[in-house]
Amino acid sequence: MSKKTRKLSFDTDWKFSPALENTEYIDIKKRYGLFINGKFIPSKGKKFFDTINPANEDKIAEITDANSSDVSLAVQSARSAYEKVWSKMNPSERGKYIFRIARLIQERAREFAVIESLDGGKPIRESKQVDIPLASAHFFYYAGWADKLNYAFPGRSAHSLGVAGQIIPWNFPLLMAAWKIAPALATGNTVVLKPAETTPLTALKLAEIIQEADVPPGVVNIVTGGGATGRAIVKHPDIDKIAFTGSTEVGKYIMDVIAGSGKKYTLELGGKAANIIFEDAAINQAVEGIVDSIFFNQGHVCCAGSRLYVQESIAQEVIRKLKDRMETLVIGNPLDKNTDIGAINSKMQLEKICSYVDLGKSEGGAIHQSSCSLPEKGYWYPPTLFTDVSQSHRVVQEEIFGPVLAVQTFRTVDEVISKANNTPYGLSGGVWTEKGSKLFQVSKEIRAGVIWANSFNKFDPGSPFGGYKESGMGREGGVEGLYSYVGLD
Ligand code: NAD
Ligand code: MN
Repeated sequence: MSKKTRKLSFDTDWKFSPALENTEYIDIKKRYGLFINGKFIPSKGKKFFDTINPANEDKIAEITDANSSDVSLAVQSARSAYEKVWSKMNPSERGKYIFRIARLIQERAREFAVIESLDGGKPIRESKQVDIPLASAHFFYYAGWADKLNYAFPGRSAHSLGVAGQIIPWNFPLLMAAWKIAPALATGNTVVLKPAETTPLTALKLAEIIQEADVPPGVVNIVTGGGATGRAIVKHPDIDKIAFTGSTEVGKYIMDVIAGSGKKYTLELGGKAANIIFEDAAINQAVEGIVDSIFFNQGHVCCAGSRLYVQESIAQEVIRKLKDRMETLVIGNPLDKNTDIGAINSKMQLEKICSYVDLGKSEGGAIHQSSCSLPEKGYWYPPTLFTDVSQSHRVVQEEIFGPVLAVQTFRTVDEVISKANNTPYGLSGGVWTEKGSKLFQVSKEIRAGVIWANSFNKFDPGSPFGGYKESGMGREGGVEGLYSYVGLD
């Protein structure tokens, strides 16, 4: 352990945590600088903020709040690495570096999973089984494309864009960093990435991996900070492309700022997905699918199935089974392997969820919550559902980004399609039926980027992801994900 590390206590108020993940070997510095030109350096502004563990409110580390001159330095370093090294490198050599990053994440998967759960509150089971392996898989996938771009764009010649400015949210911190960095590097661009303010640690640990992989200095730069740091990236004149994942509100701001600048952009924004259960569906599986769709990652999922549509004839049975299943979900210490529902990511997000639930009640919705008890310290919210709500209720229209489901019923296929499409969003959807023809019809008519059939929240680096309408533009993942980082001749 280096001098700057110390032993941390990660106890929470949970009295019963029988299967706690060991945190003793986790190496987190007291304070992190900015990762620019291959080194951790201090900010000129000398401003810091704390990242905390949302399960117990303990401070984990001090993080640098980068100002606009720090951002400029990062962009300069990315530009110079682009011009002198990365854009000139043989594509198969670039691929080797990306493969190395993928392998190093795999080797350190356990450490990354623990840090992801500590910093963001998600259950360790999810960090271990979803976030970290998928992040590594993303680097593997795009590493494979690095020297095969001619096959991705047959008959055309693809060239890199230059420097990409990338801004990511707090719900899948390492995975979102992978979604951004891997395709950018594979297509020959260099990057300046900003993680979200509540979950910067795995991006900073990724910086260590980038050093270890001997990636040439400046190819990947990581600057930490909040909205102001993000704005400095968006406004920087020497950035060629902006890749953003976050709220629709900030997405609109970004479009405004870069309009007319010639910058390319991709925006992955919010969602309010319909999850549709037909009467001929396998009901017990569908109930599990509802749990996956809205309670996975405490509902902090842009593609969460937050609107449930159940066909009237089976509504009573589905809702009864769902309520029974909610009772069995274990809310607990994120580091306990038995935990199904971890901590809410931040105080701010918890307040947002609470205010939406109050709104749902005042608008006349009938609320049901699982009866679990919650600790005093930390940010927690029980699995919740609303019935007696209709299309015009705000809990049906607006994204809550928490474990809150709005349940409605329907009678016919046409009715549910029009209800599902009655939203400003269009990121994802789910359809549950044993009939293939119905699956094809409904999934074709729902205006959303991803539709899951008899499943929900399944991801693969080979399949593109992205939104219609206010859910954003551009695709990430798959061959399509390469388009966003190249110009074509
Ligand atoms: P947010 O938009 O406030 O923040 C996202 C990121 O943008 C953070 O890094 C933040 O620091 C930065 N940021 C904030 N203001 C900025 C500005 N003016 N200019 C540039 N950067 C700025 O969103 P959030 O509250 O952190 O995340 C929740 C939202 O993100 C939800 O609405 C959710 O649906 C959406 N989201 C979408 C996807 C997707 O893939 N479509 C994935 C995750 C989250
Ligand atoms: Mn944190």
